[in-house]
Amino acid sequence: MSADCIFCRIASGELPSREVAQDERFFAFHDIDPKAPTHILVIPRAHVASLDTAMDEALLGGLLAFVRKVARDVGVAELGYRTVLNTNRHGGQAVAHLHAHILGGRQMTWPPG
Ligand code: 5GP
Ligand code: ZN
Repeated sequence: MSADCIFCRIASGELPSREVAQDERFFAFHDIDPKAPTHILVIPRAHVASLDTAMDEALLGGLLAFVRKVARDVGVAELGYRTVLNTNRHGGQAVAHLHAHILGGRQMTWPPG
C-alpha cells in the first residue's frame, strides 16, 4: 500500500469506485472515463508501479487470469475484448500502479493511437 497512490487507495476502499470484482490479490472496477461501453480496470492489491517493474511472475499470470474471469463475468468474452497495459511515458501510463484495461462492447480498431 502506497498512501499517495490513488489505485492503492481504491483497492483498500479508502477511495470510492464502482467495483466489479475482487479477491485476495486483485480488484476490478469501472474506469471513471470510459473509452468503450465496457471499460474496466484490473489492479493487484499490492503496489507495483508498472509492468516494467513487476517482478512477481505469478502475480502477472494471476492478473491475466483475473482479467479473463472478469471479461467472462461481464459478458464481453464471447464477442471479444481488448486488454491493454500502458507502460511508462511512451506507453501512455498515467497512473503509476500496474493496471490492465478491459475494453469491450464495441469493435476495437487497429492500430491503437
Ligand atoms: P493509464 O493511462 O494509466 O493506462 O490509465 C489510467 C486509467 O485510470 C484512465 O483510463 C483513467 O480514466 C482511470 N482513472 C484515473 N483516475 C481514476 C479514478 O480515480 N477512478 C477510476 N475509476 N478510474 C480512474
Ligand atoms: Zn498503488
